[in-house]
Amino acid sequence: MKPPKTCDTLIIGAGAAGMMCAAHAAARGAHVALIDHAKSPGEKIRISGGGRCNFTNLNCGPGNFISRNRHFAKSALRRYTQHDFVALVRDYGIAFHEKKLGQLFCDSSARDIISMLRQEMEKTGAQLILNCPVQDVQRSGDGWAVSTGQGQITCRHLVIATGGKSIPKMGATDFGYRIATKFGLDIVPTAAGLVPLTFGPDFLDSFKPLAGVALDARASSGRTAFEEAVLFTHRGLSGPAILQISSYWHEGDPFQIDLLPGHDAFELLRRDRQAQGGKTLSNVLARHLPNRLAAHLGEGHGRIGDLGNDRLRVIADDLNRWVIRPTGSEGYRTAEVTLGGVDTRGLNSNTMEATSVPNLYFIGEVVDVTGWLGGYNFQWAWSSGWAAGTAIAEKCQAAL
Ligand SMILES: Cc1cc2nc3c(=O)[nH]c(=O)nc-3n(C[C@H](O)[C@H](O)[C@H](O)COP(=O)(O)OP(=O)(O)OC[C@H]3O[C@@H](n4cnc5c(N)ncnc54)[C@H](O)[C@@H]3O)c2cc1C
Repeated sequence: MKPPKTCDTLIIGAGAAGMMCAAHAAARGAHVALIDHAKSPGEKIRISGGGRCNFTNLNCGPGNFISRNRHFAKSALRRYTQHDFVALVRDYGIAFHEKKLGQLFCDSSARDIISMLRQEMEKTGAQLILNCPVQDVQRSGDGWAVSTGQGQITCRHLVIATGGKSIPKMGATDFGYRIATKFGLDIVPTAAGLVPLTFGPDFLDSFKPLAGVALDARASSGRTAFEEAVLFTHRGLSGPAILQISSYWHEGDPFQIDLLPGHDAFELLRRDRQAQGGKTLSNVLARHLPNRLAAHLGEGHGRIGDLGNDRLRVIADDLNRWVIRPTGSEGYRTAEVTLGGVDTRGLNSNTMEATSVPNLYFIGEVVDVTGWLGGYNFQWAWSSGWAAGTAIAEKCQAAL
């Protein structure tokens, strides 16, 4: 489809937030165009959740998000909730299931969500233009002139929905941050989030043989803790608990893993020593931990009955409070999200409009609001896209 020369609202970025916004901005008859440099919309939706898209979380609330202003996301999340999105999914007859911890996934394919959003846009007449790179954005009166690879488009409302920096090979760019900076908005420094952490040779030499071992553990950094699976890999540690804690981890800092969450390891081992002193520590640990990990941790300690309280205490401490020092993360190449982004102090939390730049809006991941793993990031995309879309539709209707 060819881009229009002019429209009421132009949205840049046909991802989760952009498509949601387009459908709602066009709901009251305004002319809305959504452009993307990619050849298909919603590419991250397509690959998300292992191809099944963890599209929201039943327990979603403001506490599941990281932002310099923890109150900012409240309004949009309250006005367009996970239950609203679930109702939309049900309307389209898309089958879904709860995997765990309130995480909702499509039964069949993430493509069902993309197709639903495309139909929502078609219903309201929002126009989708693909293969359309954006070169520049200029102020034009109280609206905008946007130069694209397919010609110039002028519009009154401009929405930036270009996402974060994660997975550049899928078309992620820093475009949104550049536009924000160009028009005087601040950027909270960005970093890779929900990302596997990497380790130096000492750690790798010792733990590489455990690649593939997974267990439920508690990863904590300061007062934040996640009890989920931890996975040993050839490059270090991954799994949901590690991805979650990576969003709170700062380069150079250690964090902790409790390999026996909910248990006092010293008490546990003391009882085991009384009951089965003749067994090796590895054998005893194998009752509580995966075999390979138990063998690794118990190596060289001999029989548990020969271990005094002092040694048992050191071993137990390592089990409950294993101090981990990553050297870095896999970065934007594999990160599921980008932390930081457009500083929310410059945005209206009801409409996502820049407070000092009328008719300029930022939605989705480009904003400094980052969700936990588990469907929260899509919910933020839906809620913020809805908030901007409905605000723009009302403004357009009032101007008629
Ligand atoms: C592998 C992976 C799995 C994930 N799984 C989940 C999950 O299951 N659940 C969940 O909640 N979250 C998940 N996420 C996070 C989620 O995908 C994002 O938070 C969400 O897609 C952000 O939506 P958005 O619309 O803001 O940005 P995006 O979806 O990234 O969309 C931005 C769009 O802007 C376009 N664009 C960028 N720059 C330009 C430019 N200069 N000109 C034109 N167009 C441009 C891009 O092509 C893209 O289409 C996952 C992320 C990854 C990488």
